[in-house]
Amino acid sequence: MPDTTANGDAPLGPPPKPDALDRAWNRLPKAELHLHLRGAMPVPVFTDLLNQHSVDEILQGVPTLLRRFFQRCENIRPFLAPRAWTPGEVTRLFHYESFEHFLATYAFTGLFFRRTEDLAALVQGVLRALEEQNIVYAEITIALINYLRQGLSLEDIARVLENAAQAGGPVRVQWIVDLVRDLGPRRALRLLDRVIGLKCPSIVGITLGGSENLFPPDLFKKIYARARDCGLRLTVHAGEALGPESVWDAVRLLRAERIGHGVRAAEDAALVRLLAERRLPLEVCLTSNIKTGVVSSYQAHPVRALLEAGVLITISTDDPTFFDTSLAGEFDRLARLGVAEEDIRNILDNGFAFAFLPEEDKRPYREALARAWPGRALRPALGSPPEA
Ligand SMILES: [Zn+2]
Repeated sequence: MPDTTANGDAPLGPPPKPDALDRAWNRLPKAELHLHLRGAMPVPVFTDLLNQHSVDEILQGVPTLLRRFFQRCENIRPFLAPRAWTPGEVTRLFHYESFEHFLATYAFTGLFFRRTEDLAALVQGVLRALEEQNIVYAEITIALINYLRQGLSLEDIARVLENAAQAGGPVRVQWIVDLVRDLGPRRALRLLDRVIGLKCPSIVGITLGGSENLFPPDLFKKIYARARDCGLRLTVHAGEALGPESVWDAVRLLRAERIGHGVRAAEDAALVRLLAERRLPLEVCLTSNIKTGVVSSYQAHPVRALLEAGVLITISTDDPTFFDTSLAGEFDRLARLGVAEEDIRNILDNGFAFAFLPEEDKRPYREALARAWPGRALRPALGSPPEA
């Protein structure tokens, strides 16, 4: 991942007030296809965890080097001393200066998921936050390894995920397992086999997050073939830290059906043509790309060029709590970049059309969107997987 400041360049000015977003974007039914569970953690959920667990006890199990790193991060340091916290205070944990501090904050928050009920509280909190934004369908990515390392069992984790998926609430959720490329291909394959053995129907796909530059897609070819053979759907983080070659590999070697980020594909005209021809969508996360330094500003983001070249995209938030954004905010920024209304309607529709759902399950969502935003007919059925 690039090493850069987390503040980014925000030439579009301050984000609009929430009530304006409510009117403009929150009223539309939306899908989130690229959302990391812990990255979406509402601040009150983490406040409860901080108050319920002993930070001293948690830090005892942390290697000295990492503990020292936490000490050096100004945003984390206050939270290393035990006391009772309020959500207002905990908000400050998510204001950090650099990409490294973002990673440290992500690692720090992960230490507090000690019990199955901690994970259940996170899932319920995220679903409530999605409901508030009128996100009616979500594919949430979970890095199982992080919870296994905290001592949770895979079976208990699966039960939490399955319960949330079966609950029949206002947000339909399915799960994508992040096999975390830093595990390396052998351990990732073992984890995949355990996931397959679970027979957990709400786990519908896999992705690979983590250090793309150290663990490029080609290392995981066998794993993707195995997942595909077992009926799992395929997406992968590519073209974020690495350039177009990573997206080429994601398409040709992993046979990914969607590309997580993928925005650096814009550097290669032949690849852009291929993505457009195959209708292989990119899960674009504008603010994330700026905060992680993939692009320097909203204005410099290649999203318009990709759209003009006919590449299909969806819009997501990636880690909204850590990047201080929301799905409504991302659509607002897209509009302020000058993307045409009709394109934005199609992008909203893509969120359902490219979901890892049966076609008959997509239809009601797409019809609801067309009713909520009347206009020219939305494009006919999209979302068939790329040809082999
Ligand atoms: Zn991601």
